[in-house]
Amino acid sequence: MQHIVISSNNKGKIAEISAIFQDLPVKVVSFEALKGVPLEIDEDGTTYEENAIKKVQPCPADSDCIYLGDDSGLSVDSLNGAPGIYSARYAGPNASVETACQKLLADMAGHSDRAAHFECCIAIKFPEGRIETVTGILRGTIATEMSGKNGFGFDPIFVPDGYSVPLAELSSTEKNQISHRFLALVQAREQIMAACMS
Ligand code: IMP
Repeated sequence: MQHIVISSNNKGKIAEISAIFQDLPVKVVSFEALKGVPLEIDEDGTTYEENAIKKVQPCPADSDCIYLGDDSGLSVDSLNGAPGIYSARYAGPNASVETACQKLLADMAGHSDRAAHFECCIAIKFPEGRIETVTGILRGTIATEMSGKNGFGFDPIFVPDGYSVPLAELSSTEKNQISHRFLALVQAREQIMAACMS
């Protein structure tokens, strides 16, 4: 059986990716669960794409495995795209959701333009060693205060376009139908299906 191997141990990501591939004859597993050792990667690229590629490049070419690596973040227009690729470390390496959201709200004080977007790049490494990338974007605005308990990261302060509440007030099912990660995954799925049929 073909394995879709994820370069992350994040249970939420693995569940989301499993749901996208549930009707295909593939098994979604983390790199560590399949190989018995974690994949150690320095996320020191200068773009989401570079970081995503870094997460699949060292994976061994294997006829049974298609590797997926992702990198994502939040860009705020009036902060010149910050926090961007530094989203995970914006308020320090171990900062809580509350601390990171409050820092962003404070940094936006005085800015009337609150447009922002989440971006996710996924790199796909096919059995023959070819690497392709796909990108998903979710546009929205930064709220003026935190609300909602669901999700993670900047979900309590990001209101997607077309919605009146932040992502943290949506269920995971609702979020996973519009998220940047979902939009990238749909494209990854198309590429994987095309490769499986060729
Ligand atoms: P990573 O790609 O999982 O390393 O995520 C990088 C960082 O971007 C996270 O730690 C969050 O701060 C932010 N981020 C990425 N995707 C989301 C999301 O769906 N909701 C909230 N924050 C996110």
